[in-house]
Amino acid sequence: MRAEIITIGDELLIGQVLDTNSAWLGQMLNKFGIKIHRINSISDDASEIKLQLAECLNRSELIIITGGLGPTKDDITKKTLADYFGMRWRIDEMVLAQLVSFFKNRGREMLEVNKLQAELPEGCITLFNEWGTAPGMWFEHEGKIIISLPGVPYEMKNIFEFKALPLINERFSQPKLFHKTIVTINVPESILAKRIEQVEDHLPSHIKLAYLPNWNMVRLRLTGIQQTGKDITTEIETYILAIQSILGDAVVATEDMSMAEIVYNQLNAKNQTLSIAESCTGGYISHQMTILPGASKVFVGSVISYSNSVKHHQLGVESTLFETVGAVSEQVVTQMVEGVRERLMTDYAIAVSGVAGPGGGSVEKPVGTVVIGVCSKDITLVKTYHFIGDRMNVIGRTNNMAFDMLRRLIL
Ligand code: AMP
Ligand code: MG
Repeated sequence: MRAEIITIGDELLIGQVLDTNSAWLGQMLNKFGIKIHRINSISDDASEIKLQLAECLNRSELIIITGGLGPTKDDITKKTLADYFGMRWRIDEMVLAQLVSFFKNRGREMLEVNKLQAELPEGCITLFNEWGTAPGMWFEHEGKIIISLPGVPYEMKNIFEFKALPLINERFSQPKLFHKTIVTINVPESILAKRIEQVEDHLPSHIKLAYLPNWNMVRLRLTGIQQTGKDITTEIETYILAIQSILGDAVVATEDMSMAEIVYNQLNAKNQTLSIAESCTGGYISHQMTILPGASKVFVGSVISYSNSVKHHQLGVESTLFETVGAVSEQVVTQMVEGVRERLMTDYAIAVSGVAGPGGGSVEKPVGTVVIGVCSKDITLVKTYHFIGDRMNVIGRTNNMAFDMLRRLIL
């Protein structure tokens, strides 16, 4: 079965909003064995929508559309679909009742444009939106399914998962698809590929290997399609073990997870705590911790010591060092990491100081120079790195390497 996504919205085409809906839909559908063949992004324009829909209907059985369902004039997806399928309008009384209580509960006046959201094309099935005002719609046309969802990501996800997906699963039964990811650090993808060449060259045709590099890490994803008489999960596990044994300590996880999560799991298992002192990353490393549910079991707090004055007053870094060796130095980071661990009274600490760029570099310390320190009560490790890329790249790489240094220290 072929499936496609159409994301509608002028904001997507000018790069004002990133199309995260497709990424999420791709992941979800994949879990259920449905492969997306194309993702198409188009503008809020009736002729573009019709043209794209016609193309998709020519080659695919399942088409998922997001965007253009808002109450304002710029959103025209619903009207365009009704036109395309030649459908008249009906008022969905349940949607209307839901809208009335939606506005009442929020103490907001319900405008005429809001009422119009209960008006739906006659021939579609309503996919109720519990978190917003624009319902999703399920159309069937010449044996094909077209699903239209609002653009707002959390509304789209909720409707898709709880209203559309059960209907899709009823309709299309697919061979089981299974993914497994190995997370590696500090080995470039070409070298990884060389090292696991033997395994990769002998993969059966129903198992594919993908390399996903990002910020000093590479995720290796094995995807397999269930064959009759064999269990795909077991088959893939065999290859995972083979790859893992070749790559050794370059492998940091055999589930798709962030470096923060890996360190969190280590510390949580030992009931130990972490504090962080961040200069050039400005809170990013701490944020990677606090987005994990249950972070408070491990993460105590951090000092965002962006200025030298905060490094001195809050962490106890000697002021003279800023003149002699500079803030981006192993001496300063040693005092930062030990200072934050002592003051926040944790088992472990991380500290970073660097030049994220694009300005601020010098001959001795060019943009991308970052000093990372980690420590426990007895051991302090400090290392200088030279990262490449823009500001966000330097921050991201610093984050990954800092957690990796701590991971090794804990091990
Ligand atoms: P709409 O249904 O067109 O009213 O979409 C409302 C909002 O959802 C837009 O302003 C965007 O911020 C967001 N949005 C729309 N399409 C996408 C998409 N493909 N990925 C992420 N966000 C989106
Ligand atoms: Mg829109």
